[in-house]
Amino acid sequence: MTRRLLLSFVPLLPVLRAAQDRVRGRLRQDASLPPAIILRDGNVVLLEGDGATAGVLRDTRLKDDDFEALGRFASPGRFVADPIHLRALFVHRGGRRLVVTYWCDVCAIRAWTPGPCQCCQDEMALDPRDPALPD
Ligand SMILES: [Zn+2]
Repeated sequence: MTRRLLLSFVPLLPVLRAAQDRVRGRLRQDASLPPAIILRDGNVVLLEGDGATAGVLRDTRLKDDDFEALGRFASPGRFVADPIHLRALFVHRGGRRLVVTYWCDVCAIRAWTPGPCQCCQDEMALDPRDPALPD
């Protein structure tokens, strides 16, 4: 009985996996407006996420970048990015899809949201990189 119950859920798995969505377009940063993606067709999708994600979305070094987020549409005009530890934020530069990271050259420390280095307290450099590279 238990076995049959388990098997009956198996066909649902591909559906669940397909539920992850992505949004890509120009990252809108405007002090008076929430962060958003401007789609190629001109439609605006508001972009939100956890605190660390919000920090990335407000990083002015990414303003107007060709930006991509993985997560879920909460509605057609609102997208919630996956939590920061799932590495859901990308920029497309020079034909490459790069995950957004931050790097301190002095301490060789990587982070996933902007801010001061946890070691030397200097502002970390934006360091978009190949997502296939290890952390
Ligand atoms: Zn440092």
